[in-house]
Amino acid sequence: MNEQPIALSDRDGPRDECGVFGVYAPGRDVARLAYFGLFALQHRGQESAGIASSEGGHITTLRENGLVSQVFDEEKLRALAGDMAIGHVRYSTTGGGGWENSQPVWRDDGRELALAHNGNLTNAVELYNELQEQGLTLRGSSDSEIMAALISSTAGVGDHYIEDAVAEVMPRLKGAYSTVVMTKHAVVAFRDPHGVRPLSLGKLDDRFVVASESSAFDIIGAQLIREVQPGEMVSLTADGLEMRRVIEGERPAMCVFEHIYFSRPDSKLEGRTLQQVRGRMGELLWEESPVKADLVISVPDSGNPAANGFARASGLPKDDALIKNRYVGRTFIQPGQELRKHGLRMKFNPLPEIVAGKRIVVVDDSIVRGNTTRQIVAMLRDAGAREVHLRISSPAIRHPCHYGIDMSTRQEMVAHGRTESEVAAELDADSLAYLSMDAVYEAVGTQRERHCDACFTGEYPLGNPESANGKFALEEISVVPAGG
Ligand code: SF4
Repeated sequence: MNEQPIALSDRDGPRDECGVFGVYAPGRDVARLAYFGLFALQHRGQESAGIASSEGGHITTLRENGLVSQVFDEEKLRALAGDMAIGHVRYSTTGGGGWENSQPVWRDDGRELALAHNGNLTNAVELYNELQEQGLTLRGSSDSEIMAALISSTAGVGDHYIEDAVAEVMPRLKGAYSTVVMTKHAVVAFRDPHGVRPLSLGKLDDRFVVASESSAFDIIGAQLIREVQPGEMVSLTADGLEMRRVIEGERPAMCVFEHIYFSRPDSKLEGRTLQQVRGRMGELLWEESPVKADLVISVPDSGNPAANGFARASGLPKDDALIKNRYVGRTFIQPGQELRKHGLRMKFNPLPEIVAGKRIVVVDDSIVRGNTTRQIVAMLRDAGAREVHLRISSPAIRHPCHYGIDMSTRQEMVAHGRTESEVAAELDADSLAYLSMDAVYEAVGTQRERHCDACFTGEYPLGNPESANGKFALEEISVVPAGG
C-alpha cells in the first residue's frame, strides 16, 4: 500500500467554485425556495452558505460557514421573509474560506444591495486600487465584494437604477462572473460576455428564478426557460422579466469542465442533460482507447455516467467494486500514522470478491493531483486485481484555471510535464488513456470555439492568464478586518 499523504477532501479532482440562486416571487416563501435551490447546488461549494431576502425596503442577510443544512433551520428561514431572495454556496477561489468572505455580500455605498457571485475576476487588484482611491473599504477579501462595492457606489436614481449601474460596471469587469444582485425592488442576474460559468433562467408559475444550474429549478417545481446569454442581464421585478444585452460580440468561452464534471448530471447545459453527455464521453472513450479486460468499474459518483457509457460501448460487464462513504467531508480529523495507510478506505472500500483475479478498467472523469487515483490502483491490487487500466473521460489536465476553479499551480498536476505512459507509471496502472478534446466536443454537441478548455490545452480564451490574480491576491495587498 502506498503511504503518500491522503487528500481527505471528498475527492482529489478539481474543486467546484460557487453556486448562486435568485427568486422574485411575492406571496411565496422565498427563503425556503432559496434554501432548496441552494440545497440542489451544494456540490458547487461546501465552505459556506447564505441567503439574503428583501422585504418592505429592508434587506436581511444570513450567512455562515458550513453546509446549507447546517447553516439554516426553521427559525432562520422565518427571519428571512420577503418578496425576493438570493442565495449562495461557496468554495473559495479568491480570498480565504473565512466567514468574512461568505456570501451574499451586503453593501450600502449609496444604494443598498446584496450580491452573490460565481467566477473569478482577473482584474480584481486593479479594481480594488480604484475603490481605495475613492475611499471605499472592503470588509472581506473576495472579488465579489469589489463587484458589490462598484455597483452600489455607481447606482444613481430612477426606476432602473440598479440595471443601469450593472450595465455601467459590467464592461469594467474582466474574467468570469455569473452574478445575482438584489436591491429593495429587484433581483438582477448577469453573466460575463464570455459566459464562462453557467447561469440559467427559470419560471415558477407566473414568476421567475435564476440559478447556476437547472437542477435547482427541478427541486422547487420551476421550469427551465433558457440560459442567461453571455453579456446579458435579466431583471426580475414586480413587472415580470426584463432582458438587456449589455455586452455583445465577445468570443463565448463556456467552461467545458462544467459538462465533464462540475455541474450535476441531472442539470441541462446547452440543451443537453449532462448524464447523457457524460455517458457519450464514456462510449467515445472505449472507441478511442479499447482495452482487453474482464470488468468495468467507476470511481463513484462522478465517474458513473462515463463508466456506464464505456461498458455499454464495449459490451464488458460493469459492477460497483468501489463502495464510497458519502459522509467524508472536507474537514476531517487526520488519521494517525498507524491508520494513515488505511486512510483512503474512509472514502472508498474495494470489494475483493468482485475484483480478485480480474483485469479491471477503472473509469473516472478527470485526474488533477493523482493522489486518490494512485491509492485506488493500489487498493485494487491489494484486493487481488490482476491488471488495473485507467480510462479518463477528459483530456489530461496540465494547465491552471484562472476562471473560478481551484487548480492554480501546474506543479500539483500529475500530468504536468509527463506523457500518458509516464502518468500511468506514476499511478502504477497497467495502462492509462485520456479522452481526446475532439471527442469531448462531439459528446457535448457544440463547437470548440464556444468553450474554454484552457486547463487541457493551455489556450486561454480570455487572454493573458499569467497576469491574473492569485487566490489570495487581495489578502496580500490589504489588511482585512474579520467579521462584518
Ligand atoms: S481553465 Fe478549465 S476549469 Fe477553468 S474555465 Fe477553462 S475549462 Fe473550465
